[in-house]
Amino acid sequence: MTTQTTKTAIIKTECVFPPISIRDLDWEATKDGYEPGDPLGRGSTEKRAIKDLAEQYADKTGCCETCGEDEFSPNIEAFEISGKIVCDECADEIFEDNSQFGVGA
Ligand SMILES: [Zn+2]
Repeated sequence: MTTQTTKTAIIKTECVFPPISIRDLDWEATKDGYEPGDPLGRGSTEKRAIKDLAEQYADKTGCCETCGEDEFSPNIEAFEISGKIVCDECADEIFEDNSQFGVGA
């Protein structure tokens, strides 16, 4: 058995480009394993949709998943990599963990 280090797509994004004049709904972002009723991020760009999604999860969890800090804004890049809602401080740990597998640098 071999260990694979393929990058897992935790956050799925899709360009929906609805036929309306508002461009705020062009992108949709969902977490892998999305089911109806789960948070769904929307935005005019892929990044904004992911940010919107992260903010919805942050509202739901109410605090950083790692340290429990409740006065925080979710780190979007850490959310993109890990699917976890964490504060900026805990995000650094996720980036370090991630680079150990040769994804970063
Ligand atoms: Zn934290």
